[in-house]
This record gives sequence, C-alpha cells and structure tokens, in this order.
Amino acid sequence: MDVTLNKLLDVVRSYMESYQCETSDAPLMLDERLHWKNIIDSSMDVMPRSRVLNGGRLVATYTFADMGELNYHSEVAYTPLPKQADSIEALDVAVFAHLKEAIKVELECQVCYSLMLDPLTTSCGHTFCRKCVARVLDHSNLCPACRRVIPLLPGAQAEPSNKTTSQLISGLCPDLLQLRIAAAKEEDMVDGNMNVALFPCTLAYPEMPTFLHIFEPRYRLMVRRAIETGGRKFGMMMYNRRGRPQGALGQSHFVQYGTLLHIQNIEIFPDGRSLIETKGVSRFTVLETAMRDGYMVGRVQRVDDVPLSEEEAMEARETAGPEPPSNDTLGRLNHMSTQRLLQFGLDFIIRAQAASEPWLAERFISVYGPPPSDPAIFPYWFASVLPISEDEKYQLLPTTSVRERLKITARWITRLEAARCGGNFRRWMPPPEFLETDSEPDMAEETSPSASQPESPADPASNETTEDALPEAEQPN
Ligand SMILES: [Zn+2]
Ligand SMILES: [Zn+2]
Repeated sequence: MDVTLNKLLDVVRSYMESYQCETSDAPLMLDERLHWKNIIDSSMDVMPRSRVLNGGRLVATYTFADMGELNYHSEVAYTPLPKQADSIEALDVAVFAHLKEAIKVELECQVCYSLMLDPLTTSCGHTFCRKCVARVLDHSNLCPACRRVIPLLPGAQAEPSNKTTSQLISGLCPDLLQLRIAAAKEEDMVDGNMNVALFPCTLAYPEMPTFLHIFEPRYRLMVRRAIETGGRKFGMMMYNRRGRPQGALGQSHFVQYGTLLHIQNIEIFPDGRSLIETKGVSRFTVLETAMRDGYMVGRVQRVDDVPLSEEEAMEARETAGPEPPSNDTLGRLNHMSTQRLLQFGLDFIIRAQAASEPWLAERFISVYGPPPSDPAIFPYWFASVLPISEDEKYQLLPTTSVRERLKITARWITRLEAARCGGNFRRWMPPPEFLETDSEPDMAEETSPSASQPESPADPASNETTEDALPEAEQPN
C-alpha cells in the first residue's frame, strides 16, 4: 500500500471529475493506438477503440481510461473537431497547471514540509525524503505520519526509492526539484548561511500548533517571503525576559533555543494583516543573527534527540538497582521506566479531566488534540496545555532525550500536586487563540533587561494568576 500515491489518485480523480462537469464543449476525437507487443503478450481484446469526448486532452484521456476502454499500454491520438484546436490547447494548459498545484501538496514530505527528495516509502505505506526517514529512525522507531512502529532498517540507505513518486516529482515539477536539491545542499553545509528568518515572540514546540496574528509590516514581509521562497518556514523563539545569558548570543533579548515553524494556513485581510496557523517542525539553537529589512535572520543548528540505542542504555542505567525510598520523589521519578514516566503523565491528565480542570477545557483539546501516546511528543503537548510559566516550559526545548523531557513533565506533576494539596492551585485564564505579535520589547531595551517591562499579552502564561500555580523549581540533582 502506498498512502501518498493513493491520495494523489484521489486528488486527480476528484479534480478530473470536477472538470468533467465543468466543460461540456471542446469535443475531441480520441483514437486508441494499441501497443502490439503487450497485446500479444496478454490475451486481451485487441480492437482499438475511438470516442468523442470533452474537456481537452488530459480530461478526455482520463475519462477514456475511467470508462475502462483504454488499454494500459496504449497510446492515444487526438483529433480536435473543427475549429476547436485553440480552445483545447488553452484548456489543456489550464488543466495541467491546476492539477500540478493540487498534486504538489501531496508530494510534500510530512517531516520537513518540503518537496520529497529521494522519496522512500515505509512498510506502513507513508512516503518521506530518504534523509528524513533516516533522521527520524535515528531516535525513534515510529512512522512520523501514523506513529506505527516501523521495523528498523539497518540498511535504510540501501532501500530502493519509490520510483513512481520520484518520476512524478521529476516529471511534474523539475524546477521545484532543482530548488529543493540546491536547498538540501545548503543545509548540508556545516557552516550554514544566515538563511533562517527568526521571529522572537513566543514559546513553540515541535508537532504543536502556534497561532499568530501578524500585523507589523516587517513581519508581514517576513511571512510573505517565508511563503514565497522560504519553504513556508521560519524560526520562533520566546523572549529572554529575565535577561539570562544565552550561550554564544550573550544577553540577547530572545532565548537561544527555538522551534522551526511551518505555515500550515494563512488568512490575509484586505489591510495586509494576517492570521497564520503554524506547526512546529524541529528545534534549533541560534548561533548567530543579523538583521534583514527590519526582521532578524540567523544561522541555526538543529537540535535532535540522541539515537534510540543511547536512549535505551540511559533507561537501563537509571532503572537498575533498588527503588529509592518513598520520600525521595525525584529519585523515584529517575528510577521509572520511560513507559512508566509517560503513563505517569497520562494518568495525571485522566485525573485532571475527571476533575474538569479548566485548563483541559474542550477548546484546548480541540486546538492541541488529545494527549499523544508517543513519549517523544507527549511532553510538548503537556506543556502546551499546562498552566505554568513559559520559563518552566522552556526547559523542554534544549533536551536531547525523551526520558529527560518526560522526567521534566513528571517533576511538574509532582510539584503541581503538592501545591494543590495546599490549596494553592488557582484558576488560570486561557490564552487568546491567536497571539498578538506586536508586543515585543524594543531592540534598544536589550541592554537593560532588568528594566520593568509590562508583561506582554503574547505570553499566555504571564497572567498573574499563574505565577503561584507552580512553586519555584527545586534544582534536581
Ligand atoms: Zn523530508
Ligand atoms: Zn506510517
């Protein structure tokens, strides 16, 4: 089974059907030209058929085949009926252009959201770039599309490419393929260019949605460029409100770890403002920045989890030995298996749901979806819905192992529950669905991070009532 090709066929079918309905004129004579060698090899009906059909060459040929009258190996000769040649030509060009647009979306890899490069199809039928599969399998054994376990392919490099998909890509969009190859080469260079647009605004996570209201002209420009030439992607980091040092960046006004966002949907208003819906693709750390036309661009380095083997070794090491005493909460969390840590989080969600906690209201679930069962992603989901400060939530971004992230969420839970026993868990106001993006601190304030800044409405967790929800973190270890 090939999910991508099946979907493609659905797109083509519904597309052709809509054209069949629309175009009632432009009749064309189609004559089947049999491929004799294949006919002799099979025992098929050998009479070539002819039909007069509408819709131009592409649509008519599709109709012909759909009627079951066109042999798979046959060619077709077209004869426009008198005075129709020009309009058929124009129709064919239009149909092809539209069809190409519709198909292109399906040829996007769901890991990197770019045109599939060297497409590889997994055993569950999902197709991604070969490099993306290798990258995912490095630290997971789940298919990024359906989350089914895919057998680890020791020789993933040797697996054959999906030939049909490859041919479709090179045949349909050779220009895009060239751009994609060039972009991949650039990505491979260790010393990448200042090629990622950066938007300091809010905390975002891989796989999770972020909604933004774009109205500042410079960010309108950034978003437009991201869509036209940036693969619909840009980097997002939250502000460095406490003025903490950020590695090579020093005391920058934004934090060094961020998330690459892919623009899934955009709604543009007549006055140029827009609402964009994004989804986190991967994490990065900012190495260097520069300004371009008022917004920031940077050189970034991808942050990935350690390989699965290392993850398993870590789990084996930490769960070995006797269980720590019941008063050693952190020790006990450390000692839990990765699966138990995940279950610890899921159980907390079930209890919170049973207690009708306002932060688990229906509208959050409709935005973030139900709790994911993938241990690598659960912490991102959990942090997205949990009413704690962004500073706390930020801890997840630099992590390089699933266990590390799950342990952070487990510590949040134990502290939340301890605080709740003291009746300290106050009501939390939900964030606006689309974050306002005009509230960033002025660049000039960078040098005086301690200056009292009004808390930005872009930070949903800045709501005063959240501050006590989670007592200041005790430093583990
Ligand atoms: Zn990819
Ligand atoms: Zn799959």
